[in-house]
Amino acid sequence: MVKHVIPKTYEEALDHLSEGTFKVLAGGTDLMVKNRSWSETPARFKQDILYIHNLEELRYIEDRGDYLAIGALTDYETLLRHEAVPQVLKDCMLEIAGPGIRKVGTLAGNIGNASPAADGVLTLYLLDAKLVIEQKGSAREALIDDVIVGPGKTTLSNEEIIKEIRLPKTRFTKTRFLKVGGRKADAISKVAFAGAVTIEDGVVKDLRMALGAINVTVVRLRDVEKRHIGETISAVQDNIVSIKNAYVPHIKPIDDQRSNRVYRKRVAFNMIEDFITTMHTQD
Ligand SMILES: Cc1cc2nc3c(=O)[nH]c(=O)nc-3n(C[C@H](O)[C@H](O)[C@H](O)COP(=O)(O)OP(=O)(O)OC[C@H]3O[C@@H](n4cnc5c(N)ncnc54)[C@H](O)[C@@H]3O)c2cc1C
Repeated sequence: MVKHVIPKTYEEALDHLSEGTFKVLAGGTDLMVKNRSWSETPARFKQDILYIHNLEELRYIEDRGDYLAIGALTDYETLLRHEAVPQVLKDCMLEIAGPGIRKVGTLAGNIGNASPAADGVLTLYLLDAKLVIEQKGSAREALIDDVIVGPGKTTLSNEEIIKEIRLPKTRFTKTRFLKVGGRKADAISKVAFAGAVTIEDGVVKDLRMALGAINVTVVRLRDVEKRHIGETISAVQDNIVSIKNAYVPHIKPIDDQRSNRVYRKRVAFNMIEDFITTMHTQD
């Protein structure tokens, strides 16, 4: 029989997780849908569930100098209202679901669910987010790219939990989050784009682009970005064809109920081109 446990403390949660049989439930906005049962009956879980929603010690946003620390249970609405949260992440979160889901949904849950179309994950790639992952008696820190390995797949073991998300502080001159969905709210991305650039005296000092829903995980090509650091705006823009060519092997969308590969591909390349050609102007 499946166990349902609500730990009173984070330490107790780690104790339960060490049994290796539990699935963490935070906001439940992915898990409840995935395990839904007949109408008006409770969700049917196939494995033990550890409800962590009452662990207040995991709900915080702290400025720690070089980085912003976000406790794993911090919901989207709280993040949206916090002044230290980067604007591009706020722009992204405003496009996630609707107010009801945002009141309980978490970035940690978005990571744990590891959908190729996860909007929060896309923006966390852009921001070089690091995750503090703990289990009873040990902790590790990992770049988000190294945690998500495929659709619904992460490197998290059954004993581990994401405790905190760390966002290194960076000042960009322009950021953009763009999502194409079937409607304005409560829509899963057909394609999504997050971009950031820092330009000083006409020279590109930082350039980042991340694309979602066009491959099994987020596509961010750090080597391509780095190639253009130190170039003038016009030098980067003159290279738009070679930049787009570099993405060709990585933009491999699928056909599904939401869209098709031809449309997704076209939109993804348009998003890259539009960001590069307008990176020096304000939207
Ligand atoms: C109507 C609706 C609209 C939606 N719209 C969007 C959208 O626009 N964009 C989008 O990206 N998503 C969307 N979602 C999906 C969902 O809301 C998000 O993925 C949300 O961030 C999940 O967070 P949660 O806390 O509810 O996760 P949960 O459902 O609690 O958990 C999801 C997964 O993460 C794991 N997990 C949760 N917390 C932790 C932790 N601390 N450590 C380790 N693993 C953990 C769980 O075990 C589970 O595997 C939508 C969902 C619904 C129902």
